[in-house]
Amino acid sequence: MATSLDKKIVIVGGGMMGCSTAYHLTCLGAHCTLVERTSIACAASGKAGGFLARSWCDGTASGPLARASFELHKQYGAEFDCDFRPVDTLELSVDALKKRKGSLGAAPEWIDKGNVRSMRVTGSTSDTAQVHPRKLCESFMRKAEANGCSLVLAEVTGVEFSPTDSTTIQGVRLADGQVILCDILVLTLGPWTNLASQWFDYRLPPIGAERAHSIVVTPKVPVTAHALFLEYKDDAGFHHPEVYSRPDGTVYLCGFNDSVPLPESADQIKPNEESLCRLQRIGGQVSSVLQDCELLVGQACYLPIPPESDPIIGKVPHYNGQLYIAAGHYCWGILNGPATGKGLAELIVNGNSSIDLSPFEPANFL
Ligand SMILES: Cc1cc2nc3c(=O)[nH]c(=O)nc-3n(C[C@H](O)[C@H](O)[C@H](O)COP(=O)(O)OP(=O)(O)OC[C@H]3O[C@@H](n4cnc5c(N)ncnc54)[C@H](O)[C@@H]3O)c2cc1C
Repeated sequence: MATSLDKKIVIVGGGMMGCSTAYHLTCLGAHCTLVERTSIACAASGKAGGFLARSWCDGTASGPLARASFELHKQYGAEFDCDFRPVDTLELSVDALKKRKGSLGAAPEWIDKGNVRSMRVTGSTSDTAQVHPRKLCESFMRKAEANGCSLVLAEVTGVEFSPTDSTTIQGVRLADGQVILCDILVLTLGPWTNLASQWFDYRLPPIGAERAHSIVVTPKVPVTAHALFLEYKDDAGFHHPEVYSRPDGTVYLCGFNDSVPLPESADQIKPNEESLCRLQRIGGQVSSVLQDCELLVGQACYLPIPPESDPIIGKVPHYNGQLYIAAGHYCWGILNGPATGKGLAELIVNGNSSIDLSPFEPANFL
C-alpha cells in the first residue's frame, strides 16, 4: 500500500516557510522538490531583522506556535551556522525635535545621544534572541538537499490538473513549459500567494503585501547584543523603527512601511531612497557610533499580511488532500518559521502534528 512517504511533494517558494518545510519533510523521510523563482531567501526571509521573542505572541492564537518555535530556534541555533544569539531588548522613546537632559540610567554605553528621552527594558537574554534569517534559510535548504530534496530555480506559472477532474493536482508548470509532477503541492509564496490564486478554480485565502525598508551599517566601534524598538517622533509624527546589533559586528535597522504594490518577482523590488536615508539619520540620533557610518546594504522587501491577525497553515479544502499552504506570517515569520515547517511537515506525512495548527486552518479563511 502506498504511504505518504512514497508521495512526491513539490514546495513552491524558497523563503523561510518553504526551506523550513523542506528540511522538516526530509527529516521525516519524505521526498520533495523545492521550486524557487529567484534565489533562496531572496525576499523578506533574507532581508528581515531576525528578532525572536518567546512570549510576545502570547494572548493571540500564535502564542503556542511562537513558544514552540522559539525552542526550535535555540536547538537549531546550536546546530546550524545561522548567527543565533540571545539578546537584551529595550524600548526607546526618541524625539528628533527635543533633547534629553540628564542620563538614561542603565542604558548600554553606545546609546549616548540626547534625542533618546526614555528607555524601558522589554526583554532579556532568557526570552529574546536573534538569528540571521538568510543564513537560517540557507542552512535549512542545505540540510534538506543533503537529505535528498531537489532545488529547482525556476518560476512556477501554473498547476497541472487531471484532464477529467479540475480538483486533482498532477504537477506544477514552469515558465519554460516544463511540468514537475507531484502528488502533493505546498505553497509557501509569502506575499505572492495572491498571484498563485489564479492557478486554481477555488481561490486561496487572501494574503496582502506591505513594503518595508531596511539598512545594514558598520558601526564605528563594536556594540553590545541589543535589540532596540524605537518610538520615534519627528515633525511628520510617530514612527516605529527597529535597531538590531548583529554578531558579525554590523547593525541592522528597519522601518518605514508603505503600500507600493508588490512587483511580480523579488528581484524587481526597489526601495524608496528617502526611507533608507531616514533610517540612517535615526541611527545617528540614537548613537554616535551609528552617525555617518558606512552603509553596507539598503533594501526593501514585502511583509505577507494575513486576512486576520494570524498566519494560514495547513491543508486547503477542495483539492483531495493534495494542496497545503503556509503564508501570511506578517512580522513574525522568522520567529514562527521553524515550528510552521515542522508542524506542516508532520501534518503532510503523519496526518496530524505535534504542534496545534487548528487555529491556522485555511478553511477558516476561505
Ligand atoms: C523589514 C522586515 C523585517 C522583519 N523582521 C522580522 C523579525 O525580526 N522577526 C520575525 O520573526 N519576522 C520578521 N519579518 C517577517 C518575516 O520576514 C516574514 O514573515 C517571512 O520572511 C515570510 O516568509 P515566507 O517564506 O512566507 O515568504 P517570502 O520570504 O516572501 O518567500 C516567498 C518566496 O516565494 C518565491 N516565489 C514567488 N513567486 C514564485 C513563483 N511563481 N515561483 C517560484 N517561487 C516564487 C519568492 O521569490 C520568495 O523567495 C520581517 C519582515 C520585514 C519585511
